[in-house]
Amino acid sequence: MANEQFAFDTIKVRGGYDPKQHNNASSVPIYQTASYDLGDTKRVAKLFSFSEFGYLYTRIGNPTVAVLEQRIAALDGAAGALAVGSGMAAVTYTLLNLTEGGGRILTTPQLYGGTIDSFKKIYPKFGIAIDQVENSADPDEFRKAIKPDTKAIYVETISNPNAVVADVETLANIAHKHGIPLVVDNTVATPYLLNPIKYGADIVVYSATKALGGHGNAIAGLIVESGKFNWANGKFPHFLEPYHTLRDINGKERNFLEVFPETPFLFRVRLNYLAYFGAALSPTDAYLILLGLETLSERVAKQVANTEKIVGYLEGQQGVSWIKHPAAKMSLYRQLAEKYLPKGAGSLLSFGFNGSNEQLDKFIDSVRIFSYQANLGDARSLIINSPKTTHGELTPTEQKLADISPDTIRLSVGLEDAADLIADLDQAFKKALAV
Ligand SMILES: *Cc1c(COP(=O)(O)O)cnc(C)c1O
Repeated sequence: MANEQFAFDTIKVRGGYDPKQHNNASSVPIYQTASYDLGDTKRVAKLFSFSEFGYLYTRIGNPTVAVLEQRIAALDGAAGALAVGSGMAAVTYTLLNLTEGGGRILTTPQLYGGTIDSFKKIYPKFGIAIDQVENSADPDEFRKAIKPDTKAIYVETISNPNAVVADVETLANIAHKHGIPLVVDNTVATPYLLNPIKYGADIVVYSATKALGGHGNAIAGLIVESGKFNWANGKFPHFLEPYHTLRDINGKERNFLEVFPETPFLFRVRLNYLAYFGAALSPTDAYLILLGLETLSERVAKQVANTEKIVGYLEGQQGVSWIKHPAAKMSLYRQLAEKYLPKGAGSLLSFGFNGSNEQLDKFIDSVRIFSYQANLGDARSLIINSPKTTHGELTPTEQKLADISPDTIRLSVGLEDAADLIADLDQAFKKALAV
């Protein structure tokens, strides 16, 4: 069904998979194999000159993983996708592939804690500078901060934990004016709520561990390429380097753009970073993510509805000093959410606990349905004190920059009954505020 134009909900169940090519199996088979028979030496000559496609070794490709890749590419309206062993591998491989040989990444302080920490600990040691705008709501700050060796703008479409909504279209235009790609982490939004490529994003990354899989049972990452960016514009000379491994059947060396004109970025990640840094996704985990994807729309729609009810409840609570979610009346991101997130702004929200540290701890310890966990996008509702956990790597100054105050509590709203969830929060507030 690859060439037909089906709607999102059809693709999420059937995209990238033809049962006829897999012994008519209805459910995507798990190809639990490390390696593949190569056939004969003539076939090997073709495989190694890229004139025939075939699987060699699961670290660089696997048929179960390939269904996941094709399905997510179709859902995102992209030229292709690459699955890797975690969301962090997706972020890191993407950014290293862009900045190889040095350069800068322009970003914001409002990011996933692991991403921020890697920016501090790893990239500078590889000769890559990280620049952060102060106010990510102001596109002019991005415009002014781009330097000649800036290689990408990197943002989260909905940030974690404060649900800051990125102005994707404006940022894409700014990036493209300077010949650089816009890279977005679309984990919190999911392709059901937002298609970043439609608004000009060039590379989209996901932690599929979160809402794409949706059941908290596998770690996985995805990198998606729009297929529209011109990697030959002079800013990315490493895409034009001829490689011995990319030689044609006559032994002539070629570059990634020549051999893979539709998705040169992804093949460069696959054959360099996935092949040699090696964070491959296991076929069984790919299967679990595929299973989760089948109900993505239904899950996210209900999670959004539950979230909006919980935001309404929190707005009337004396134990709450502020709420960060575009559905909240006080949100600064209502307008951007109206444009980019008409189906809802996701199931991640944070709020300020109006009480002492001791009472905040008591609140977390008193919930009975919400699980105290660092995951998000799960079918189960989760609660966490971000400053001490998911963003605990950050110094107090960095937490301030990221707009994470010590009173922050993050909720990831799941699929339980909304009234039960609200009653759970309510009894926890009562217990905490009585301390
Ligand atoms: C969890 C997360 C990641 C990292 O993903 P893993 O699968 O845990 O490696 C990256 N970005 C965001 C926004 C996340 O929530």
